[in-house]
Formats: sequence, C-alpha cells, structure tokens
Amino acid sequence: MSTSSPTIPAETARHVLWLYGAEGGYQPGTFTQRLMAAIEAADVINTARLRAAFPELVDAIVLAGNSRDGITRLQEAAGITVAPIRCTRCQGEDGPFTDERLCEPCAQPMPLDGVA
Ligand SMILES: [Zn+2]
Repeated sequence: MSTSSPTIPAETARHVLWLYGAEGGYQPGTFTQRLMAAIEAADVINTARLRAAFPELVDAIVLAGNSRDGITRLQEAAGITVAPIRCTRCQGEDGPFTDERLCEPCAQPMPLDGVA
C-alpha cells in the first residue's frame, strides 16, 4: 500500500465533489456514478480490489469521506477557490455560524458596559 499522498486529477475531484454535493462538483456519466456508489458501499477487501482498477477515484472518495479537510483538498485538486464563510458582523472565519451568518461571539454579544 502506497504511503504517498495521491495525486487526484481535476476531473476525478469534480466527480467526487458532485457525489458529496460540494461546490465545484460536476456530474459524471452513469458508469462513474455507479462505480462511485460501489466504492462507497465496498468493504475493505472490495475497496482494495476497486483501488487496483480505479486508484484515483477510490483515493478521492476515501479522502472526501475520511478526512476533515477532504472536500477542501478535492476543491484544490479541481482548481476551485471557495471563499471562506465569514461572519457578517466581524468578518471572522471561525465558525460555527448562525443562520444569519454570525459567528458565536457575535450572535451572543457581551454587553458593552461589561455587565453580564
Ligand atoms: Zn463575528
């Protein structure tokens, strides 16, 4: 098993982004859609078998499914720059955000006179 990080082609990255409903995704043909479904459903042994035939697609799906920044890395592989979500009040990038796109401190502001 290779320990080097996979190089995922842009087209493969876009197909897997589509699978995960992520920005930059591009719907592949029927064969690739069904292949991706098979990879998602595969156990360890069948994943290894599928990787032998479709290494880039398997690695991209594993990356997206098991890595916290997997979607971001696929978007980078696809050459997509996704603007970070920013708080509408302080412009901070630290989530989570409310439905009004406010970060937690801005959603629950401390009184300015310091009396909590
Ligand atoms: Zn804020």
